[in-house]
Amino acid sequence: MARAVVYDVDGTLYPLWPMRFYMIRELVWRFLHSPIRLLREVRVLQVYRSMLDKMRGRPDEDTDATDPQLHATARKLGMKAADIHDTVHEWVAQRPLRFLPRIAKTDLLKTIITLNQRGISQGVYSDYPPDCKLAALGLTGCFQAVIWSGQREVGQFKPSPKGFSEIARLLGVEPAEIVFVGDRPSRDGRGAQSVGMQFLHIKDFTPRRLCEMLGTEPL
Ligand SMILES: [Mg+2]
Repeated sequence: MARAVVYDVDGTLYPLWPMRFYMIRELVWRFLHSPIRLLREVRVLQVYRSMLDKMRGRPDEDTDATDPQLHATARKLGMKAADIHDTVHEWVAQRPLRFLPRIAKTDLLKTIITLNQRGISQGVYSDYPPDCKLAALGLTGCFQAVIWSGQREVGQFKPSPKGFSEIARLLGVEPAEIVFVGDRPSRDGRGAQSVGMQFLHIKDFTPRRLCEMLGTEPL
């Protein structure tokens, strides 16, 4: 029987397709107002994204750095890390926030809030910084541990086992007693199972199913 739950964020707490729609709308808006700036920003975001795919699952050469994806993007483009940070912060961290409440997976959010009230340990492990998104979703305070792949203590992306082991350590629960809820079997599922966690695909999630895995009353 599981004793704790850890959640992925993007594609799990909210679906990706509606968010992509909103973000394309934002990009079009920016293009109409400052096209040159937008082209530069799109290039930065493309390289930033491709760096994650390159680094995923590989041991990082620069594990001391905070946010290795950001530094790799800066090196590739010959730009300052601070400039990359501003673009990434705006488009990856800030702009999506105001759309989150309207597309969130409400049955999952309600379950998280109820499980927290019941005293069940819960955590978050994402490849991206999750704190602002969790706040926008109204989930601040529901988790005993929140980590992401770019932080110093992890430094490797999913499906590397490192972040999965780290979140179990922070929760003080054996990995075998944790259910990891995520949207990507090749990243969330593989990583979670590599340290012995149970994996629940978001497609199979119902409040009842998760409560059964935890041996707690249905909501
Ligand atoms: Mg995801």
